[in-house]
Amino acid sequence: MSAEVLRRDDDVVLTRLVVGPLRTNTYLLGCARTGDTAVVDPGDDEPRITAALAGRRVVAAVLTHAHWDHVQAVGALRARHGCPVLAHPAEAAVWAHELAHLRAHGQWDWGQDRPPAGAPTPVPGWDGHVDAALADGVPLAVGRLAVDVLHTPGHTPGSVCLRAGDDLLTGDTLFPGGPGLTGWPLSDFATVMASVERLLSSLPGAVRVHPGHGPATTVGRERPSLEQWRRRGW
Ligand SMILES: [Zn+2]
Ligand SMILES: [Zn+2]
Repeated sequence: MSAEVLRRDDDVVLTRLVVGPLRTNTYLLGCARTGDTAVVDPGDDEPRITAALAGRRVVAAVLTHAHWDHVQAVGALRARHGCPVLAHPAEAAVWAHELAHLRAHGQWDWGQDRPPAGAPTPVPGWDGHVDAALADGVPLAVGRLAVDVLHTPGHTPGSVCLRAGDDLLTGDTLFPGGPGLTGWPLSDFATVMASVERLLSSLPGAVRVHPGHGPATTVGRERPSLEQWRRRGW
């Protein structure tokens, strides 16, 4: 699938690419006035990400979290564009887990899924280096945009969501139909539910939710389901 423009107005240009074996959403979050762009979750396929940028300046590679399917193009993107890598400090433990699992099993941790039989041993696309820490409530400057950073632990301890006006990038914290899965080491269901409740109770219903995999939803559409998710326990 080619890059899909989700929003283009006087403030923001937001583009989605689907990359890698888990069909991860990589978002290009750009300032419409300056062209400066943050690449959120460079999951794979740096050449295609760079082509979609069409010459716009990359001001940061931003990680919603450090699961392997969200970071595999970070090293190549940094090498090509010289951009800093931004993540929450609590994600260092997540990346350490990913590397330990790869060393022990010869494959990434696919959670509930299984890697394809006979797949070659993956090569990590990132050395784990982070240039600057993301923190809750400290906005991220992308050109003239001030992108809100919300620390939303649970799927992983250092998961963050990024908000530019009525668009919210949620990584694997919130999807249509529920919170992100918590079957990994370092994940916790009660914690992700607290994070999701904070998002759904504090943000306007019109805010569009763009998750780390699959299609978008809105805060208003998901809000009525909170209690049901809590009861079902995932
Ligand atoms: Zn994840
Ligand atoms: Zn993911």
